Amino acid sequence: MPTDIQVAAGKVSSINPATGEIVAEFECATPDEVNAAVARARAAQPAWEQAGVKHRIAVLRRFQRILHDRKDDVATLITHEMGKPKVEALLTDIVVVLDAARFLIDNAHHALKPERIPHSNPVLKAKSAYLLREPYGVIGMISPWNYPLSIPATESMAALVAGNAVVLKPSEFTPGIAIELRSMLHQAGVPADVFQVLPGDGPTGAALAAARIDKLIFTGSVPTGKRVAAAASQRLLPCVLELGGKDPMLVLDDADVDIAATAAIWGAFVNAGQTCLSIERCYVHRSLYEKFLSAVVEKGRKLRVGNGMDPATDIGPLIHQQQLRIVESQVSDAVAAGARPLLGGHRMSELGSNFYAPTVLADVTHSMRLMQEETFGPVLPVAPFNNDDEAIALANDSEFGLAASIWTANRSRGQALARRLEAGTVMVNDVVSCYAIPEAPHGGVKSSGIGRTHGRAGLEEMVRVKYVDSDLLPNLKKVWWYGYGPEFSQQMQGFSDFLFARGIFRRLRGGLRSAAAFFRKGRL
Ligand code: NAD
Repeated sequence: MPTDIQVAAGKVSSINPATGEIVAEFECATPDEVNAAVARARAAQPAWEQAGVKHRIAVLRRFQRILHDRKDDVATLITHEMGKPKVEALLTDIVVVLDAARFLIDNAHHALKPERIPHSNPVLKAKSAYLLREPYGVIGMISPWNYPLSIPATESMAALVAGNAVVLKPSEFTPGIAIELRSMLHQAGVPADVFQVLPGDGPTGAALAAARIDKLIFTGSVPTGKRVAAAASQRLLPCVLELGGKDPMLVLDDADVDIAATAAIWGAFVNAGQTCLSIERCYVHRSLYEKFLSAVVEKGRKLRVGNGMDPATDIGPLIHQQQLRIVESQVSDAVAAGARPLLGGHRMSELGSNFYAPTVLADVTHSMRLMQEETFGPVLPVAPFNNDDEAIALANDSEFGLAASIWTANRSRGQALARRLEAGTVMVNDVVSCYAIPEAPHGGVKSSGIGRTHGRAGLEEMVRVKYVDSDLLPNLKKVWWYGYGPEFSQQMQGFSDFLFARGIFRRLRGGLRSAAAFFRKGRL
């Protein structure tokens, strides 16, 4: 059965990539419908904000319970719509969302409350000041298909608990999960217009980015992210861009080969390699190189590829034919340029049209597309290095900078090298799991994006800070107001000395010189 992309005649259809069956079908929202949804969200948002953070946390707690109760059905739907093994749907989508909800339930009240801002400058001490964290209003979200629940749900929960309304345009390949998310949030008590889902494809996303939203949270590929950023720049729309990666794994000379090899195959093949944080490049110290290659091949051979509904399956299908063709062409280019295929490197048509064998390639070089472009498939390319400096240089030689990992028996050595890597996250002796740590900020540097989701930093992206300053001496004219002149200039030089001159005597003299400014005549 054909399992290619299907976006036809104003409709989006999610297709089970393992079987080719249609799972769900929706009309694409038109630009008028997008604008109407944003207008409804704008009208509904103030009441949601005024309901207060405690109320919103209670709603989130109900949502957490509903999702937990429905975890089996939701995991089945995720596997049907995008193919990953059901146990991965549970762990990497559902549990991630449950835990992110817990983080917000425990921390949102404290993180969002007004924060006192003390002043250290002596003439500004007679002021009381604080920061308010206010919701933007309406946040637009555009999400991809690879983590069809955890990405839109974690971002939406943070936006909602901060008091925003959310309009979500999910991937055209996984609209059904987003509709399920909507139903659970509404059941938990989020008002219908405060969380809306607009099924659709690229043009629907473009219409949302052009609508009267106050901020955009985009997760997807670098090319689409650049298009979205260009559109947003026309009206200075703030946006967070969570984009692609080409994450390196560095296996140092003191690493445990067995553990690093097991981590490498999981990090490269989880979700069939369709993870923004996948290991896409693996560099191994030359002294361990052949041993490491034998270990990953031996372990990789044991992996079972198949329908994600079968509990024995380790690796499901790729999402669609276009993704499979990208993987195939990068692998065949690399082999033609001298990469050594050790495992896989071919389709598994006997299972269906979207299955690709877990693949290990040795002796890859940086001139190959496989080491420069995002692959997003079950491919582990491995290359040797001679010393730490070379490993860091190879890892940083990329337009991407999402995450990286370092494998070593010496944690301090790993942490010291982590400082030299150009990445939003560096894990020492672990891979990928940073996304499941609700306290950890997620986001990249270089082409991997702008801004952060998750954790305290992700919550901060959902609010504007407003600084409120109240003067405690409202009946006094400020010393710096008009009434300038030569005498005042001298006094202010003294004031500057009082604050910043070198030596206690010069400072005291400056203080005495400036004191008269407070009583000077001739002020307006
Ligand atoms: P994509 O860029 O093709 O699509 C992402 C979303 O953008 C979809 O909802 C799509 O309909 C929408 N879209 C397409 N054209 C648009 C336009 N002109 N204006 C507005 N929206 C538009 O990406 P994808 O194939 O869905 O997802 C895979 C990519 O996402 C990979 O590159 C992966 O690394 C990246 N990703 C990044 C993260 C992260 O957190 N950094 C997480 C998951 C996936």
